[in-house]
Amino acid sequence: MAIKKYRVPRTRDLGFGWKVYIKQVGPDIFKAFNCPGLPGIWMVDDKTIYIDKRISYQKKIEVYFHELIHAVADFEVRARGGI
Ligand SMILES: [Zn+2]
Repeated sequence: MAIKKYRVPRTRDLGFGWKVYIKQVGPDIFKAFNCPGLPGIWMVDDKTIYIDKRISYQKKIEVYFHELIHAVADFEVRARGGI
C-alpha cells in the first residue's frame, strides 16, 4: 500500500508540446461518459484523465498510471502522423 505522500498530479507534461490533464471527478461524469462504475478514463478529445475522486489513494495511483499508458499510446500514434 502506497503511503499518501504525493498529490495526484493535475497535469503531466509528456514533452514535445503534449500535455495531459488530470481531473478528479464525481460519479456523474462517468455516467455522462456512458461508463458508470469505471474508476478512471482517458479522453483524447480534451487530453484529460478523469479519476473517480471517491476511490482510495492506492487505487488513484493505479488508475493514473493505467490511463497515462492510454494517453502515451494515443500521442505515439499522433507522433507517427496518425489520427
Ligand atoms: Zn484501459
